[in-house]
Amino acid sequence: MLRNVKDQWWKAMVQSRGDVVGIDSAIIQARAVWKASGHEDVFTDPMVECRNCNARLRLDKLDDPNQCPNCGKRDTFTEPKNFNLMFKTHAGPVESDENLVYLRPETAQGIFINYENVRRTNRLKLPFGIAQIGKTFRNEITPGQFVFRTREFEQMEMEFFCRPEEAPSWFSYWQDQRLNWYTDLGIDSDNLRIRPHGDDELSHYSAGTVDIEYAFPWGWDELEGIANRTDFDLRQHTEHSGEDLRYYDQESDERFFPYVIEPSAGATRSMFAFLMDAYQEEEVAGEKRIVLKLDPRLAPYQVAVLPLSKKAELIEPARKIADSLRSDYMVEFDETQSIGRRYRRQDEIGTPLCVTFDFDSLEDQAVTIRYRDTMTQDRVSVDRLSEAIASALAG
Ligand code: ATP
Repeated sequence: MLRNVKDQWWKAMVQSRGDVVGIDSAIIQARAVWKASGHEDVFTDPMVECRNCNARLRLDKLDDPNQCPNCGKRDTFTEPKNFNLMFKTHAGPVESDENLVYLRPETAQGIFINYENVRRTNRLKLPFGIAQIGKTFRNEITPGQFVFRTREFEQMEMEFFCRPEEAPSWFSYWQDQRLNWYTDLGIDSDNLRIRPHGDDELSHYSAGTVDIEYAFPWGWDELEGIANRTDFDLRQHTEHSGEDLRYYDQESDERFFPYVIEPSAGATRSMFAFLMDAYQEEEVAGEKRIVLKLDPRLAPYQVAVLPLSKKAELIEPARKIADSLRSDYMVEFDETQSIGRRYRRQDEIGTPLCVTFDFDSLEDQAVTIRYRDTMTQDRVSVDRLSEAIASALAG
């Protein structure tokens, strides 16, 4: 499912657009990169320690800044310390300061340091975007809430370079695009909102940021940040590397630093939101049915092939059908327990279609397709199965 979320993001942000290209940059990057980007100095969270229970906590995420959520005691916190979230390691055999490197805490810097190569080799003209999906590492003080906050996670980021005066309109364009992406893939729009950052929340590079928030069980919380990073990063890297990263506009014969609009989403966090939004409990014939109403593009399996009984005469042809579908779909094959139990199991993992091979199938060369959401069934001949599945999944 995580792979499907990432594939859908790539399809929407890179494949289907003529103005965005993709890259895959290094995870371990030189200290100089993180000095230039400002992360070494300011990529910190305020940490306090409870003098009573020794819990270490992130101050800006506490409901009550004077009460320890771990032991319940009040006024037990130490003075806040700025804790840098980057993981350090050393490149090469010597553990010296000169060899210090960091695991990236965002994929974005890999885009900025490759910007000039990518622009030149792809002959890109403003406005254009460079996108990347990849692992990111933050030494979070308090990881938790399932995969909402982990120390190793995946980001899906795009840096969209434009003329400075066009930045405000691209900022609002990308907010619409990104909100639509979530609703198109099934998230109820009532569970999404856009929240602008207050001045006190803005990152060191930002002239304006909004969060796309989701109604998580504990309240509204960030799913994705969209920021106007201005020309901060390209300027910083120019200053620190000595390489002129200004853009030359032939028509106007001007040289300037482009502005950057950045939609930055968490792959794992989005997957979590898609999962929760799809989860439903229904009552069917007096019994509870749990069903994940996932968009077929996100469901881990699109089709389950189920022989009605464990008899070899059914298993063999059913397996053949399953194998014939594997080049196009993720297919489950399940021969255990009653057919009703097996349908329910597929409902719970969000499989949109079940294909049942029964004793009649041996005679009529047809199978039953059962639809997850409506629980209705159709009889389809085996030769037309692939076509029927494609049209059912296309909705
Ligand atoms: P927070 O305030 O929650 O720590 P942030 O504002 O620092 O998050 P960004 O730097 O904007 O987060 O990161 C962009 C996206 O990356 C977030 O919207 C989120 O989806 C994802 N993300 C950030 N940190 C984590 C994490 N520790 N675990 C999982 N996903 C994360």
